[in-house]
Amino acid sequence: MLETKTFESLQLSRRILQAVKEMGFEEPTPIQAEAIPVLLNGHDVIGQAQTGTGKTAAFGIPILEKLNPRYRAVQALVITPTRELAIQVAEEIMKLGKFKDVRTLAVYGGQSIDRQIGALKRGVQVVVGTPGRLLDHINRGTLRLQHLKMLVLDEADEMLDMGFIDDIEAIIKETPETRQTLLFSATMPHEIQQLARKYLKNPRLVAVSKDEL
Ligand code: ADP
Ligand code: MG
Repeated sequence: MLETKTFESLQLSRRILQAVKEMGFEEPTPIQAEAIPVLLNGHDVIGQAQTGTGKTAAFGIPILEKLNPRYRAVQALVITPTRELAIQVAEEIMKLGKFKDVRTLAVYGGQSIDRQIGALKRGVQVVVGTPGRLLDHINRGTLRLQHLKMLVLDEADEMLDMGFIDDIEAIIKETPETRQTLLFSATMPHEIQQLARKYLKNPRLVAVSKDEL
């Protein structure tokens, strides 16, 4: 699969194409070229690719294309292993959504929970967060996931290594069965395959090796 695709050929909206251009992305990375059409078609996806292959936009673009900007409920949730990643992923989604009216929030431990609660109350459509803090918000009733359309487990192997499996399963239980589920991981050990089997429906596998870059 070495054909070069363009962002235009992925049938993205004008606002996203404009943002991608402003970010200096000339063409989609292999994981983006493969995953974006599958995700726009509504399939669950297991994405395997090394760090630095552009996974954030691979799920960020479909999230932004699919959510309804007029609807003020959390429609997409990205779970990341660390606060740094939560911030980084939220920033990238904000840049990709610059020309769309979308509210994105990062929630993580070590930052005032009241500030995050205030932001959640004002209405957020995309939440990116670490497992512990997400669960705090769910238990306080400040994060409601019943209208969630897309759930992303980012760096799933790292989250399992860090012992977040119970938190992740508790979060998934708060989401509707009808959600689209995405699992991204650099490696696919047995535990990740089990997690995917349990929570993804008929997933498409999108795997890209670093040599394809
Ligand atoms: P991963 O999650 O796979 O580790 P990221 O999504 O963080 O990778 O992307 C790594 C870097 O590449 C980021 O700085 C991102 O902005 C940049 N990037 C992503 N997609 C493209 C693209 N299509 N063209 C150029 N740079 C890109
Ligand atoms: Mg990443």
